[in-house]
Amino acid sequence: MASTDSLHPQVGVIFATVSAVPVEHVDELQAYADAVAGCARCRLAQGRTQVVFGAGNPQAELMFVGEAPGFHEDKQGLPFVGQAGKLLEKLLAGIGMTRAEVYITNTVMCRPPGNRDPQPDELEACEPHLFRKIELIEPKIIATLGNFATKLLSGRPLGITKVHGQEQETTLGGRKVMLYPLYHPAAALYTPAMLKILESDFARLPELLGRSLAPIAEAEPELTLVGSRTPAEQLGLF
Ligand code: URA
Repeated sequence: MASTDSLHPQVGVIFATVSAVPVEHVDELQAYADAVAGCARCRLAQGRTQVVFGAGNPQAELMFVGEAPGFHEDKQGLPFVGQAGKLLEKLLAGIGMTRAEVYITNTVMCRPPGNRDPQPDELEACEPHLFRKIELIEPKIIATLGNFATKLLSGRPLGITKVHGQEQETTLGGRKVMLYPLYHPAAALYTPAMLKILESDFARLPELLGRSLAPIAEAEPELTLVGSRTPAEQLGLF
């Protein structure tokens, strides 16, 4: 599959927005979405309108992982379609990208009742879905939005205030991937200081997309599911 390069309008660098993901993976991703549309692995299935699998370019180099669907996402079946989503789109526009070029999903695919935080067993139940999506999309960068996605995918208990804007290479599904923690857009909606930080962290994405990742070293430990690696409580998620 060919790569599509685009010219970043602000910094003038050329970066690939589409990875060389085999076309079979695109079909597999759709098949996976169909297969999990009736997922009942956790109690969130009972209160949801529908599974919010994720949306965007199945061959994206840049993938965003948020927390959980909210009211609007649950109704529309799409991630980040409310106010936080509008801000995410604005931030993407600021780096010359659209949501159609990236892939957006969440740590859990079903709306927690009353928008409460996802619980440890719910996160654990949804992990295989998130990891399968990552395997099939093969993103170069996973931008984790907020504490939940950041701690879950980094496997470290450090909060977003400490680690935002600090890229970290890791190995996932046998591939190198760059984790890039960002403040959650919902948190930046009403806090101008946080918005400024989010904007400046976002502005580094074109440069990060242009970087090549180091090859996987022999016997390098692989990032595994949080449930089987570190109890979620230890990550400070709860
Ligand atoms: N917040 C999230 O974390 N995810 C969404 O899909 C919407 C809002």
